[in-house]
Amino acid sequence: MAEYQIRHCERQLEGGIHPETYKDLSTSAPCVFIDDPKRLVFPIHFSGGGPGEPLVSIGDTVSQGTPIIKCQSGIIHVASRAGTVIDITDHAITHPSDDVSASIIIEPNGSKDQSYLHPLSWPFDADTLRDRAIEAGILGLGGAGFPSFKKWSDGTQTLIINAAECEPYLTADDTLMRIDTHSMIRGACMLSQTLDIKTIVIGIEDNKPEALAAIEAALQESRSDCFFDIVLLDTKYPSGSARQLVWLTLGIEVPTGSRSVESGVIVHNPGTLAALSRAIDGKPITDRIVTLTGEALTTQKNVIAPIGTPIRHLIEATKTNPASLTSITVGGPMMGYQVTDFEAGITKTTNCLLAREVEIAPESPCIRCGACATACPVRLQPQQMVSALKGGLLDRAIHEGLTDCIECAACNAVCPSHIPLAEWFRLGRFEAREKANEQRLAAEARERFEARNKRLERIAQEQEAKRVARKAKTADALNKARKAREESA
Ligand code: SF4
Ligand code: SF4
Repeated sequence: MAEYQIRHCERQLEGGIHPETYKDLSTSAPCVFIDDPKRLVFPIHFSGGGPGEPLVSIGDTVSQGTPIIKCQSGIIHVASRAGTVIDITDHAITHPSDDVSASIIIEPNGSKDQSYLHPLSWPFDADTLRDRAIEAGILGLGGAGFPSFKKWSDGTQTLIINAAECEPYLTADDTLMRIDTHSMIRGACMLSQTLDIKTIVIGIEDNKPEALAAIEAALQESRSDCFFDIVLLDTKYPSGSARQLVWLTLGIEVPTGSRSVESGVIVHNPGTLAALSRAIDGKPITDRIVTLTGEALTTQKNVIAPIGTPIRHLIEATKTNPASLTSITVGGPMMGYQVTDFEAGITKTTNCLLAREVEIAPESPCIRCGACATACPVRLQPQQMVSALKGGLLDRAIHEGLTDCIECAACNAVCPSHIPLAEWFRLGRFEAREKANEQRLAAEARERFEARNKRLERIAQEQEAKRVARKAKTADALNKARKAREESA
């Protein structure tokens, strides 16, 4: 049995809100496997892990697990089902841009052909685990899609399993923790033992009693000697935001502009650790749990779907006519984004499809009530930042803390004037990143120019030194010749 303790979190989240959670909508039905769709869509550059290149051609036959995309980060994405590559073309994608991008289209053939990796035998070292995570396409499944292996640095003290799932409607992590608990625990233990991590913390909101019971049962059955510190968090949004979770569970404030890993802490989603456990056994990521929810769907549930499944297929699985919806939210109501083309396929980071009939209230002027500042978990002044951004004063917004904003939209939820504050901040942060990139590129160009000038100056000095030396040598030779002539005369 693994040792563990359960304790209530002694810290309070700064700011935050208590929205209606609507979690029961999707957890009251069992999680089911979805029938294979007629086609699967894999964006080449937006499947997670950065821009990619296709490893297959039109007409190729693939097995479940055949590598099909290699990303710049090294991450490999595989075919989630056996079938034929019928096209590589621009296609609608599941992405905040709601745009099209180059994608691989696979038509499943119903075959059970599998092309998995060989199982790793314990013990293995960190480099072996990193290579396996790359080959199996292990990404942060909580939404960010950051390659997991990039977080695994030496000197990490603590692994936090982010089991908070604090955003309303989302229950994919809750479901995974109920039905695939052993994989999550095993993945966490293997990662910790490989990286010599001392403590595993599970930060879980106190509205998930079934998941907590499943975790306890799995730990009692586990033969691992890892120690688990289970921290029960008050149900409050956004306690699952990485920075906030590190502070709530460990009391560590991650400095602005740095990642939690730089403070000796790795934060992973439960699904990521379960996927890592399967990858150790040789199975790359081919499927994920997706929450299908919202009052505009006829039924709500969690499903296990192949990566690449078109959104339309999932909507139909809830007995809902896709034509009755104009768009769907990918993710939760706070941080999700809209997709309008239901032919787009789900990716590894698609944790929820949310369909709601929401009336968008008209925006009115700010009444300076301060509610947004009270709700902000980062102690920012959203009304001042938005005022700067509306006035085109990006630098002032940055000075006010724009780059610290975690885009949680808690400010939006409480604003009586219905100002879309978080949308402004997303846009402003994008512009700030672009500007920083431009400045970095300009600085790099300046450095290159200065280095070139220095190199040319050095070459000129060396040439001059050689010329002077040559001249001296010639003068010396002439002197010697003159002296020789004088002596012989
Ligand atoms: S979106 Fe940004 S400004 Fe608004 S509450 Fe969240 S962190 Fe604060
Ligand atoms: S909550 Fe809305 S109205 Fe109130 S200060 Fe903030 S932006 Fe202004």
